[in-house]
Amino acid sequence: MSWTDLAAHGRILIVDDAMENIQILHHVLGEEHDVLFALDGEKALEIARTQRPDLILLDAIMPGMDGFEVCAALRASAELRSIPVIFVTTLSNPEDETRALEAGAMDFIAKPFNVAVVKARVRTQLTIKRQADAMRELSLTDALTGVSNRRSFSDTLQSEWRRCLRSGTPLAMILIDIDHFKLYNDSYGHQAGDTCLQQVAAAMKRCILRPQDMLARYGGEEFVVLLPEEDIAGAEVVARRLQEEVAALSIPHRNSPTSNQVTISMGVVSMLPGEASSPDQLVRVADTLLYEAKESGRSRYKLAAPA
Ligand code: GH3
Ligand code: MG
Ligand code: MG
Repeated sequence: MSWTDLAAHGRILIVDDAMENIQILHHVLGEEHDVLFALDGEKALEIARTQRPDLILLDAIMPGMDGFEVCAALRASAELRSIPVIFVTTLSNPEDETRALEAGAMDFIAKPFNVAVVKARVRTQLTIKRQADAMRELSLTDALTGVSNRRSFSDTLQSEWRRCLRSGTPLAMILIDIDHFKLYNDSYGHQAGDTCLQQVAAAMKRCILRPQDMLARYGGEEFVVLLPEEDIAGAEVVARRLQEEVAALSIPHRNSPTSNQVTISMGVVSMLPGEASSPDQLVRVADTLLYEAKESGRSRYKLAAPA
């Protein structure tokens, strides 16, 4: 999406207990946007969870769960709190406005609707939402290779460790380092080195098949794969696939003492997270194994599944 059409074609959830209000808003917004609707607060939260709208137009007063409660529930959810909410309301006293803003609303639209105002306010919120999404995406992505960056990896490592601790399942990690990459730069130039990093990252990305698995650039010519709920046998399958995909690129490396093409070395570890252990241990073991793989000849992996 380009920066000029940030406000175009969003997915908008309209929540109102009066069908006629939904119909009017649908009429106003339906031509430009995908419109979803809910007639009560519970349904609204369910649709927000399953359909991930870009924006919610929320009636303040509804029987059962009212708009303020829906807004508070959205803000309390890590997954849903980034969805902006515009209150649509006949309430106009400062107390109600304050209450809505405190519950996390971004804006108000007064009933009865003015078509131009509704359209303009929706466009504004869509633009802000998409700029925020783009910023978040950029802050988690490595600029050169397009895979996750180190920070994103660290956050995910912490959360996956806790998740595997709760569920009593192992967490696996593969630390990957390109062999003789300094020599590669020296032989072909830094620009070619950058292209090589991009190709290797793209090849390894093809080995990551499950949605919860992650490939990140760990730094320089080092990458890391995180495999939640994977034991050492499963992690080894992925490591072998990584090695094959990189080999299949057949990137020439004429001065490498290891091979005539670009190769990788890996440390592969799977651990059952325990109260007494920490994610740092996983990284330390992977690092030690990677070192052993380098020392014993490169273009290979070493693995361990410490208790
Ligand atoms: P080893 O097989 O022991 O891993 O040797 P190596 O040469 O790969 O390891 P070393 O750590 O000595 O060198 C890493 C090189 O990676 C040095 C650095 O210039 C290069 N490098 C790191 N980041 C980038 C990058 O973004 N682009 C390019 N072109 N080179 C990079
Ligand atoms: Mg290195
Ligand atoms: Mg290296």
